[in-house]
Amino acid sequence: METSSIYTGKVFEMARQQFEIVADHLDIPDHERTRILMPKRALAVSCPIHRDDGSVVVYQGYRVQHHLTLGPTKGGTRFASSVDVGEVAALAVWMSWKCALAGLPYGGAKGGIAVDPRALSRRELEALSRRYMQEMIPFVGPHTDVMAPDMGTNEQVMAWFMDTYSMYQGRTVSEVVTGKPVGTGGTAGRREATGRGVAYLVGRAAETIGLRVSGSTAIIQGFGNVGSVAALTLEAAGAKIIGVSDHSAAYFDKNGLNVSALDAHVAKTGSLAGYSTESLFDAESLLVQPCDILIPAAVERVVTKKNASDLKCRILAEGANGPTTPEADAILRERPEIFVIPDILCNAGGVIVSYFEWVQGLQQLFWDEDEVNDRLNRTLERSFQAVSRIAKQRSLSTRDAALSIGVEVVRNAKATRGLFP
Ligand code: GLU
Repeated sequence: METSSIYTGKVFEMARQQFEIVADHLDIPDHERTRILMPKRALAVSCPIHRDDGSVVVYQGYRVQHHLTLGPTKGGTRFASSVDVGEVAALAVWMSWKCALAGLPYGGAKGGIAVDPRALSRRELEALSRRYMQEMIPFVGPHTDVMAPDMGTNEQVMAWFMDTYSMYQGRTVSEVVTGKPVGTGGTAGRREATGRGVAYLVGRAAETIGLRVSGSTAIIQGFGNVGSVAALTLEAAGAKIIGVSDHSAAYFDKNGLNVSALDAHVAKTGSLAGYSTESLFDAESLLVQPCDILIPAAVERVVTKKNASDLKCRILAEGANGPTTPEADAILRERPEIFVIPDILCNAGGVIVSYFEWVQGLQQLFWDEDEVNDRLNRTLERSFQAVSRIAKQRSLSTRDAALSIGVEVVRNAKATRGLFP
């Protein structure tokens, strides 16, 4: 498929290559491929803010909506220095396959600002969040495109987004954003949903390969909302967390780290740095230490052709979006002893509970946390079973099976709706 476009860079190429592999497998003719893969529309904005020192700085922001065939688009907003339109587009494409696999009535979207949020004061972060949402008003809406948190954003940023949108509408529109604080239209269980989902699926993968989670060992890269909750949940299930890392430090202890103490340290200081000197470790080699469960829960492209043959885990649970490059994937296809829980399945808990939040907001009828968790587990269970079944029936890797299901749902919906006009 040949298309020149604004969507360039390694991450978008990854999304394209993954798509081409499953499109070959599904025998999708070339003329249909562009229609399914290329994003429907994108908005780029310049966001000026006053810094605390009185200067004015302009940040570049983006929002990409991949397809609108199944309903509104849905996806997070990332604040990170690496953000560009190609990365945001790839993440939007992955959101589409993720939502389709989970059976949610959404297309994928993603947004972001090229900024290191840690370098901003709280006032500057609020100004930037509000300015970004203000620029997005013509492009988003509760039935058009629903935002959520992603790397570098959190419940507070979602509250500012919701407030800004609502002030312009002259009424509260809580359903324009999910991942809001409970008490400001948020749902019970959303903050924990992605990490809990990762832990649930690790449990299901473990059952499949005959591994007991209790007494197993886990290494987790990334200790943000996803990694920390996955670590706490797996620890509660009896797993020993022997390695963790974030952008600031990595720790390893074969006797097990104290996850609650790590979590408390991050809550206080904002990162893992300075937690201990005894268990300090080299971040890169953390991924190739022997363990039962390896969870990349940070950024894209960390399992590569350089380290894929050296992984010594039994389950690779992709909490992050796009942590495994297509070259690494080719290596992992030849390593059936590693059970891969692909990103669009593994981290879907977040968007699934976002969907529950959106539904509750539209109805103004709120569920308790047990109901949220129960529905989350049932949704993940259906997806897990579907992926396992297709992988077996068609002799595919779990990633290719998951992507095939997602791509087929979108393809079929486009075929049934037909081409307008
Ligand atoms: N940013 C999350 C993801 O990548 C959540 C998206 C959402 O809740 O809409 O899946």
